[in-house]
Amino acid sequence: MSEVTVSADVPTGVTPPSDADLLGGSLRELMAEARRIRDVRYGRRVTFSPKVFIPLTMLCRDRCGYCTFAKPPSRVAAPYLSLEDVLDLARRAALAGCHEALFTLGERPEDRYPAAAAWLDEAGHGSTIEYLAEAARAVRDETGSSPTPMPAPSAKPSSGCSALSPPARG
Ligand code: SF4
Repeated sequence: MSEVTVSADVPTGVTPPSDADLLGGSLRELMAEARRIRDVRYGRRVTFSPKVFIPLTMLCRDRCGYCTFAKPPSRVAAPYLSLEDVLDLARRAALAGCHEALFTLGERPEDRYPAAAAWLDEAGHGSTIEYLAEAARAVRDETGSSPTPMPAPSAKPSSGCSALSPPARG
């Protein structure tokens, strides 16, 4: 049996419980201890960021067995959302109070699907990431929302995403 170590970032002023105390008690006691530490550190404040999800493309070159997001081209209306559709979604979300646009997308679908490569080519983009950058800038410029791109890790541009950062607020 392997040893279990419980470590927590315990705030100043809170006596940290020992691992034995935590693991020896009931679930109810463990939850009460978690509540106590949370209340000392954060109080009862809850924050959230109203956001809209923008599925720029649901195609993906990968085949992760657990994935519930990616679809093949035959199951989507088009390989990518058009820029007009992206902006329409972002504008309506901004009117509804959202100030963050979360772009979701698969990884480099153009590597796997000719339809994706053809769509990008016709739209004048060299890659999904290039299109993502344009769409994110357009949303930022048109709506003031903060674009948050979520490409698969290995699809990130080598130059980083600084071009997608939200404008500085005065
Ligand atoms: S990389 Fe992401 S979108 Fe692509 S198949 Fe895997 S989990 Fe799905």
